[in-house]
Amino acid sequence: HRPPASVAETDAAGAPAAPAPLATLDARNISAWFGDHQVLDRVSLTMPAGVVTSLIGPSGCGKSTFLRILNRMHELVPSASLAGEVLLDGDDIYDASRRLVDARKDIGMVFQKPNPFPAMSIYDNVLAGLKLTGVRASRDEKDHLVETSLTKAGLWRELKDRLRAPGGGLSGGQQQRLCIARSLAVRPRVLLMDEPCSALDPTSTRVIEETMLELVNDVTIVIVTHNMQQAQRVSQQCAFFLASHGTPGAIVEHGDTEAMFADPIDPRTFDYVNGRF
Ligand code: ADP
Ligand code: MG
Repeated sequence: HRPPASVAETDAAGAPAAPAPLATLDARNISAWFGDHQVLDRVSLTMPAGVVTSLIGPSGCGKSTFLRILNRMHELVPSASLAGEVLLDGDDIYDASRRLVDARKDIGMVFQKPNPFPAMSIYDNVLAGLKLTGVRASRDEKDHLVETSLTKAGLWRELKDRLRAPGGGLSGGQQQRLCIARSLAVRPRVLLMDEPCSALDPTSTRVIEETMLELVNDVTIVIVTHNMQQAQRVSQQCAFFLASHGTPGAIVEHGDTEAMFADPIDPRTFDYVNGRF
């Protein structure tokens, strides 16, 4: 188990503290329902430490539901139920002894639509997650955390002189990177991203892709994308979801991204990655 939460990235002597180790997320036999409508059927997927995994598949096949199950957001929907296990380095995140906030702290989420607090300053936006997770920090620690988080999200240089400006005044791409910085500030071990670039222009998209490729050294990443080029650019592992003819969503095929695009095993994967449905 991890030591108590602290924002300090250096120890008392000022030497860099050991980063939280990269974590493997393991979904085992996940089935999900809204009421009696089953939307996922026994989905198993290991998302290894230090890897970007992309989830692809047509709309409605359960990708977002699966992603939300990975950080316990699914249980917030009153009609939702779930079977299976989600293990973070072997520990079940749904275990009764584990608090919801711990799962949220370890496993961050970025959504399709950038959602910074628009009236809140850029500085306070970055730190917004700390309050939720009950982490205390001195002013210096906060300054440091804002700088490191914005740096990791590729925003520090362009925003360092206007940290007091409202988050809502930024461009869409900057807002999304601010949301990434906000997620990183609580030092998650896994970052889930649900179509993080679909609301952005191509330039912002590329900036975020470059950010992801750098972040994967610090945090295990799972991304949902409809952009096949993006899946190939950013991910080393890929899983293809499908819910055909009213059956619940399931993984048809998963594995090494390059192999899956170059030489898919299942004809349905071939058709999907080649834009045939
Ligand atoms: P995807 O992200 O692949 O497009 P979703 O996970 O959003 O798919 O949706 C999977 C299925 O679950 C769809 O049939 C959708 O209508 C249903 N669904 C998603 N969220 C809810 C909800 N909150 N209540 C009821 N049904 C839902
Ligand atoms: Mg979705």
